[in-house]
Amino acid sequence: MILSNKKFDYEHIWHPYSSMINPIPCYTVVSAKGVYLKLHNGKKVIDGMSSWWSAIHGYNHPILNKALRKQIKKMSHVMFGGITHPSAIALCKDLIFLTPKKLDCIFLSDSGSIAIEVAMKMLIQYWQALGEKRNSFLTIRHGYHGDTFAAMSISDPENSMHKMYNTFLPKNFFAQSPVSSFHGKWNENDLASFIEIIEKKQTQIAGVIVEPIVQGVGGMRFYHPTYLKKIKILCDLHSIPLIFDEIATGFGRTGKFFAFEHADVVPDILCLGKAITGGTITLAATISSRNIANTISSSKAGCFMHGPTYMGNPLACAVAQANIKILKTNNWKIQVANIEQQLLKNLLPLLNHPNVIDVRILGGIGVVECIRSINISLIQKFFIKNKIWIRPFKNLIYLVPPYIINSKELTQLIDVVKESMHNNAFFI
Ligand SMILES: *Cc1c(COP(=O)(O)O)cnc(C)c1O
Repeated sequence: MILSNKKFDYEHIWHPYSSMINPIPCYTVVSAKGVYLKLHNGKKVIDGMSSWWSAIHGYNHPILNKALRKQIKKMSHVMFGGITHPSAIALCKDLIFLTPKKLDCIFLSDSGSIAIEVAMKMLIQYWQALGEKRNSFLTIRHGYHGDTFAAMSISDPENSMHKMYNTFLPKNFFAQSPVSSFHGKWNENDLASFIEIIEKKQTQIAGVIVEPIVQGVGGMRFYHPTYLKKIKILCDLHSIPLIFDEIATGFGRTGKFFAFEHADVVPDILCLGKAITGGTITLAATISSRNIANTISSSKAGCFMHGPTYMGNPLACAVAQANIKILKTNNWKIQVANIEQQLLKNLLPLLNHPNVIDVRILGGIGVVECIRSINISLIQKFFIKNKIWIRPFKNLIYLVPPYIINSKELTQLIDVVKESMHNNAFFI
């Protein structure tokens, strides 16, 4: 039964970034609890990925489950056009409370990529309302903002997605990404390329968009907070709105509730996703300043033109609110600080390993940059054998474990990663 299901999956189902002819093997997970994923053969593995940064409180959390059950008894969904409901209101109250005062108007949507599309559409309409045609965005290299077209168009141009869809993608401006690392010294030269573009192209730029501090799957880079501070000043100087993509970093992952707090700057639009429901159901939010919302609303169009079918889904809103409640009661700050301490103590020494270029740690994120690309299916076999789940990409192995992971479980994750470095067959 299980084998034939696996075969069906292999032959009929696409997985993320996969081939239908020669996909890398998939592992069947039948249930999950806490930090453990249970495989079809009964084996339990420790999840080092939080299902792509989202399951921050672990799986099958009783409070998240309870929120879902409570909501499902009332309704699973109702359209958001012309209708509102208590779960959306309660969640948005929390989000307004958690975000800086300037961020005042919330657009709920289905996924991170859509939250980015929404932010970009908002700024196109914002400039139309001001009587200007601005159709380009300024961002930095090594970014990642999602897989839909506009989101791809501002993601790193060197990666293959741009190459594949280039003929169809809107053209945007890319400044060099900062070289000054988060913990290193600030180098003013990092700004040169950004300054040049914003000065030359300012009448074309509808907005600047970056991932604050941590560039995620575009390279897992942690850059200097001064960079963020200075681009905020430059945006203000040229009256260009600034979008922060906190889809990966929001809700405590970097040790601050939002990564932009490391630089003490506030954007004009904030995009949230991933951990917003604690890894339960898809939901995202685009939160803008009152000024942007009002400018769009007072335009000739008179409204913002977006409205997904499942906008403000009550189940997602209810569970997102419960997620925020758990963050408070669990004391996420201490949880993340403990993970950081242990990564520093146990993962950082890999710096000296001949197969390793760099080890970077910030909050609940640990990154091992290897000398060569990794043979993903081979290394995953080794990881599973040693009861951990990690999905590397390119030459990067990264850990973003659930905040609830204990020190013994984290030791196991780190030790297995360390051991894997000794096997040259894992590197292509
Ligand atoms: C994952 C991610 C997105 C896209 O979110 P989806 O929910 O996968 O569409 C956008 N930006 C960043 C920084 C992300 O990590």
